[in-house]
Amino acid sequence: MTEDIVFDYDVKCRTCNQKFKVQMFDSHDRNLYLVDNKHWFCDKCKKDFFSKQTAELQEKNTLKGFLELEGSDKSISWAEKLRSEMMNKFEIYKQTVTHQSDEDKELFEKANEIFLSEWFATKDAKWWIDNKKMNVRDMRLKIEFIIEEIKNPSKENL
Ligand SMILES: [Zn+2]
Repeated sequence: MTEDIVFDYDVKCRTCNQKFKVQMFDSHDRNLYLVDNKHWFCDKCKKDFFSKQTAELQEKNTLKGFLELEGSDKSISWAEKLRSEMMNKFEIYKQTVTHQSDEDKELFEKANEIFLSEWFATKDAKWWIDNKKMNVRDMRLKIEFIIEEIKNPSKENL
């Protein structure tokens, strides 16, 4: 049974206890259930929570070596999350690599440094959002490419 009636319900923010209205489109019974059982947060508390979470992530990322992001509040929040996830992926990738020799290991570490220095220097929140699909395989290929570049520098780079 569908009705085109929109109901307004009074709910209470769990953080500040402020009452506010929400619109729900389900059956009245279902809506009342949600009014009583869902954890409601008003817009202000939701926003505060969001920026607190972003600030915490930002602090962690800065400690790892990242620069502060630039962009809209919304894209910064998202990019902050993305780059810490990508960094975790990269750490996992690093742990799976085995080295044939000390020389190999040294090359690999040098390539890591070059790879990460690009990440660390990327302040544009949009870049992180555009590159959010980068997976471990992409990272491996990029590192392998950098290693080749170190071994056989192309003429343009000399
Ligand atoms: Zn609130």
